[in-house]
Amino acid sequence: MSVLDAFRLDGRTAVVTGGNRGLGRAFATALGEAGATVAILARDTAQSELVLADLAERGISAHAFRADVSRRAEVDAVVEEIVEALGGVDVLVNNAGTCVHRPALEVTDAEWQEVIDTNVTGVWNCCQAFGRHMAERGRGTIVNIGSMSGLVVNRPQWQPAYNASKAAVHQLTKSLAAEWAPLGIRVNALAPGYVKTEMAPVDEPQYRQNWIEDAPMQRYSTPEEIAPSLLYLASDASSFATGTVLVTDGGYTVF
Ligand code: NDP
Repeated sequence: MSVLDAFRLDGRTAVVTGGNRGLGRAFATALGEAGATVAILARDTAQSELVLADLAERGISAHAFRADVSRRAEVDAVVEEIVEALGGVDVLVNNAGTCVHRPALEVTDAEWQEVIDTNVTGVWNCCQAFGRHMAERGRGTIVNIGSMSGLVVNRPQWQPAYNASKAAVHQLTKSLAAEWAPLGIRVNALAPGYVKTEMAPVDEPQYRQNWIEDAPMQRYSTPEEIAPSLLYLASDASSFATGTVLVTDGGYTVF
């Protein structure tokens, strides 16, 4: 057996929340290329159909399901749908997230609530609902997408709710890892730095200095460059890792 076999996911099923675009789409593709049957969970079903067509062209077996992760009833219902359709869930990637870029004194109640509802309650809803299913089976792997913003404060585009939410994701990850290890469930977090997606306007000149030029590697990343790190945490390659926060940020958090 080759060491590379530990990264394979043949015969396994993987759910990616927010799999419609950005990092989630790259994660779904990587998991599928590693052999998993993939379920993308998103709100925009028309966009999901386009992603499914692309995954099918790559020879990946994929399904799409609709849910807003911040709404518990929708999450509970979709877990049942997914388990029935796929026969069980081996890997859950809690990727769906949102960000509000605004100084603290200008953040509205609604903006604060949206970020916390999506990034913290959404991750919690999916962890608990899929976690119950995994506990019944006695196995499962969860990867929560945190951020370097859960570790340091990035300038100058202030985002207090986002930073707080990602620190909460890291701590929730550790808490569940400790509680669920005896149940056969591993829980880890991936904390990327700047990745070019709709969420991060990395090319805008006002952010270049602090976001890119001050960072050791002096560049941002692509979703595809982060995907192998996700694959490590989702597969048996990380079989002795739980409760870890894997930082992939081009060195941004060393300062
Ligand atoms: P995008 O904005 O490109 O994608 C976010 C995805 O999450 C979309 O597919 C969106 O779907 C989905 N989503 C948002 N809210 C919900 C919800 N309530 N229910 C279901 N799906 C939802 O962002 P990224 O790809 O950049 O981010 C993905 C993850 O990576 C996030 O958790 C983000 O915080 C994290 N991250 C991103 C970094 C970056 O620099 N880009 C750096 C570090 C972490 P919809 O079409 O329905 O809106």
